[in-house]
Amino acid sequence: MRIVMKFGGTSVATGENIRRIADIISSSVSKGHQIIAVVSALDGITEKLIEAAERAEKRDKGFIHNLGQELLNRHLRVAGEAIFNSSILKEIQLTIAATLEELEKILTGILYVGELTPRSKDYILSFGERLSAPILYGALKDVGLNTCFLTGAEAGIVTDDNFGEANPLMNVTKLQVKERLEPLLQKGMVPVVTGFIAATQDGITTTLGRGGSDYTATILGAALGAEEIWIWTDVDGLMTSDPKIVPSAKTLPELSFREALEMAVFGAKAMHPRALEPIMDSNTIVRIKNIFNPNGPETVLVKETKAKPGTVKAVTLLKDVALINISGAGMVGAPGTAAKVFEVLGKNKINILMISQGASEANISLIIRRNLMEKAVNALELALLGGGLIREITGEDDVCVISVVGAGMRNTPGIASRVFTAVARRGINVRMIAQGSSELNISFVVKESDGPAAVQAVHEEFKLGEVSSF
Ligand code: ADP
Ligand code: ASP
Ligand code: MG
Repeated sequence: MRIVMKFGGTSVATGENIRRIADIISSSVSKGHQIIAVVSALDGITEKLIEAAERAEKRDKGFIHNLGQELLNRHLRVAGEAIFNSSILKEIQLTIAATLEELEKILTGILYVGELTPRSKDYILSFGERLSAPILYGALKDVGLNTCFLTGAEAGIVTDDNFGEANPLMNVTKLQVKERLEPLLQKGMVPVVTGFIAATQDGITTTLGRGGSDYTATILGAALGAEEIWIWTDVDGLMTSDPKIVPSAKTLPELSFREALEMAVFGAKAMHPRALEPIMDSNTIVRIKNIFNPNGPETVLVKETKAKPGTVKAVTLLKDVALINISGAGMVGAPGTAAKVFEVLGKNKINILMISQGASEANISLIIRRNLMEKAVNALELALLGGGLIREITGEDDVCVISVVGAGMRNTPGIASRVFTAVARRGINVRMIAQGSSELNISFVVKESDGPAAVQAVHEEFKLGEVSSF
């Protein structure tokens, strides 16, 4: 069987973990499977690189030097723990040092110019995966596997130039990935591919958005016709809620692609929201597994699943969002107001995550990503104020979205009332409600500090921690 295995940041956080991965891959290869490994940056490194890019722009010279040392020490330590053979280790140490030299040069360049563009930021962020992939490659070589490492671009992934959240150009990507990786697989090699990073057709480095290594795995899986994609993470698959918020959360054994997508979009970090796109119409099976508990519970994602009526499957929490409120008595009965709002946001490339309009029509509320709040409010004010229809546009950034997900909720009356009664019982004020047309989820907005309690209330109400099979 052909399997793409993706290892997240926590899976490659230490040398010991990387050794664990090498053993997992090695035993799969010995069972006759063809494996393509996709690797994230070591845990916390992408955050460090974001900080470095921002500090360079602010001309903080001391920080760059210290960061260079810190990254060198961490990667050398992890490589030293993961690779036992001294000549392989030497090769990897040299790669790490050369890669970090390149990073220091680009950061110094930004420091002098004092300007950080989305394009140069993507280039800086690419270093996390460019540093972790050689270590896994070294560890695989060390356990006797025939292997090589490539960047996403070298593997053939081509995207548009929407830096920070680039979109793969699937037709050309599929052709190139096949052309480049198929011969390696035929030779019995295990290619190690950097997650998250790709390039435009002109070879300019791009990234696929935070958490994008999952996306890399499915892009490669679709291109290579892999039977299965295994997303290795630090918890037992996709669960009824984030186990860090609800300790009694249980693994969901099976979910449809659409349900998983809904969960991912609304905050279940264990899966990137766009990761299912490349395989949505295929029969590829996705497994989400725990690297620390490889034989424990896992989630299997399939195209279709038979949902039981009335089933609420999970409750998720989406942070880093902002609430935009557009109000004015003049909006009542004035056609086209909502269309204008969407047009302005669309032109500014601001994605709307949730919409609701009051029954009085005197207000429209929207949820967008928090880092876009100022841009959105400014753009809306510029375009809409002064026309008499809209009186006020405000933004609030201390909110979060709670989503209750499950295909079985369709056509089952009474679920919403149970959700809101459970939340109200805890004295939590609901700021906004929306139900997507898919009816796969009911979402509502509460103050950020009320988020965990609201999640726990819903989890308890539907006894999600007690369910053993769905
Ligand atoms: P990785 O580095 O493997 O990509 P992430 O941090 O992106 O890992 O995602 C895994 C984390 O997602 C878990 O540690 C967990 O806290 C969080 N998470 C949030 N919601 C869920 C959920 N419903 N099921 C499982 N994990 C969840
Ligand atoms: N390293 C990237 C991130 O932290 C991609 C990933 O881990 O999936 O967002
Ligand atoms: Mg992730």
